[in-house]
Amino acid sequence: MVSRTIPVDTFDLVLFGATGDLAARKILPSLYRRFLAGQMPEDARIIGAARSEMDDAGFRKLVSEALNEFVSKAKRDKDQIKAFLAQCSYIPIDAKGDGGWAQLKEAMRDDVVKAFYFSVAPSLFGPLAKRLRSHGIACEDSRLVVEKPFGVDLETAKQLNADLAASFEEAQIYRIDHFLGKETVQNLMAVRFANVLFEPLWNERYIDHVQITVAETVGVGGRGAYYDTSGAMRDMVQNHLMQLLCLTAMEPPTRFEPDLLRDEKLKVIRALDPVDKSELVRGQYKAGSEGPSYQEDAENPDSRTESFIAMKIGISNWRWKGTPFYLRTGKRMTKRLSEIVVQFKETPHSIFERDGHAPANALTIRLQPDEGMDLSMTIKEPGPGGMRLVNVPLDMTFADALGPEGEEIPDAYERLIMDVIRGNQTLFMRGDEVEAAWAWTDPIIEGWVERRAQPYAYAQGSSGPEEALALLHRDNRRWRDLGD
Ligand code: NAP
Repeated sequence: MVSRTIPVDTFDLVLFGATGDLAARKILPSLYRRFLAGQMPEDARIIGAARSEMDDAGFRKLVSEALNEFVSKAKRDKDQIKAFLAQCSYIPIDAKGDGGWAQLKEAMRDDVVKAFYFSVAPSLFGPLAKRLRSHGIACEDSRLVVEKPFGVDLETAKQLNADLAASFEEAQIYRIDHFLGKETVQNLMAVRFANVLFEPLWNERYIDHVQITVAETVGVGGRGAYYDTSGAMRDMVQNHLMQLLCLTAMEPPTRFEPDLLRDEKLKVIRALDPVDKSELVRGQYKAGSEGPSYQEDAENPDSRTESFIAMKIGISNWRWKGTPFYLRTGKRMTKRLSEIVVQFKETPHSIFERDGHAPANALTIRLQPDEGMDLSMTIKEPGPGGMRLVNVPLDMTFADALGPEGEEIPDAYERLIMDVIRGNQTLFMRGDEVEAAWAWTDPIIEGWVERRAQPYAYAQGSSGPEEALALLHRDNRRWRDLGD
């Protein structure tokens, strides 16, 4: 099956923070790959902006270096890169100053889609939004893209929403969570809502529990100072894991439209039970052969910030009452893996008990490393010798199923940026959703700050602290082995 590429309308994309890490690592390579795929029109333009003094040639050199570093060799074509660079230009602008705005206004065309990407610190969102309006650069249908973190608690998120709302309508604001741009995440919705097989079983009657894991092998070295003010709860759970939980747990929207879908996600967040401290485990990695301890990486010997968190969450609604969702995420773990496991219940009565146990079905939705899904099925072990049962996966790895051999699945940023140009907010978080997620998260964090709770130490290259295993053991369940 070959994926179709539908070109988007032509656009002027202003990339604030164009000299930064995210622009080099993700945004510019993603735009180049869409250009290569024929989706970015030949007259679309990318206007880089940041404080650094630079001319167009200097910026093109920077973009070219980023493409060399972050685009795979197979996709680096000299002529194509040259053509892409011709669509890039640069204007020095300080978000808090008045220089450069007149030049930007002059450079923007009237009859094209206008998008402004804020790949800068959140403290600059308000000043940038205000100046785009006051200088008459943004108009009614301009789009604004903002990066995470969207606040550090409910109060700061409300302030950011208010800063943006002072200059832009909610329908113009695209809050990025790159997890939502993953092929698998959208396929989770397709599998649930476009097949008759799963939805009748998708509830507390047939699902024993759900596990959501986002495990990383890297530590926090390099961005330790930032991470130490955040921790796994703010950095991963409040946004990425929360979004995965919502898409797994939500009711079917009446139509696949941005606000209808986001309404359903919001209902899930509002139905989340508060988490008791006995149902939550925080961890911090120790020094090991892979590198220094968390505290050394964070350059804070007294740090109590968690680099790992596991928790049990209840959802108080008709569909899920009694079916727990277990979440875990951590740094320096044994394997880099993101997945959702929907663990079905055992059959009500096993007719095979004397000849072999029938393990329950599980649907695994893999986000990384190899995006795809598998459904574990119980079948008879082939051959004579009685009725022995085995569990085999029905595997669908998207790279095999959806693309010609060697074809890469588009990066989440590629899809999300093109959705911005198309004006489709489905895969972006709405302001009230973000606030609701913080309203649920804040009391949990306040609880451990008040108790001055110390995270459990865990070994690098492990699955996290032992206490996280116990969280499931006492419910007679076990985490999926990360080494599986
Ligand atoms: P970064 O490397 O520090 O880059 C920041 C950018 O902002 C630079 O281009 C900088 O350029 C520009 N800038 C700083 N002050 C400015 C001002 N007053 N006016 C105009 N431009 C200004 O940061 P980053 O890692 O790219 O991150 C950007 C945003 O994305 C942050 O909100 C971050 O949390 C988020 N994010 C980053 C990643 C990642 O992997 N890097 C992942 C997820 C989210 P000048 O110094 O030239 O002005």
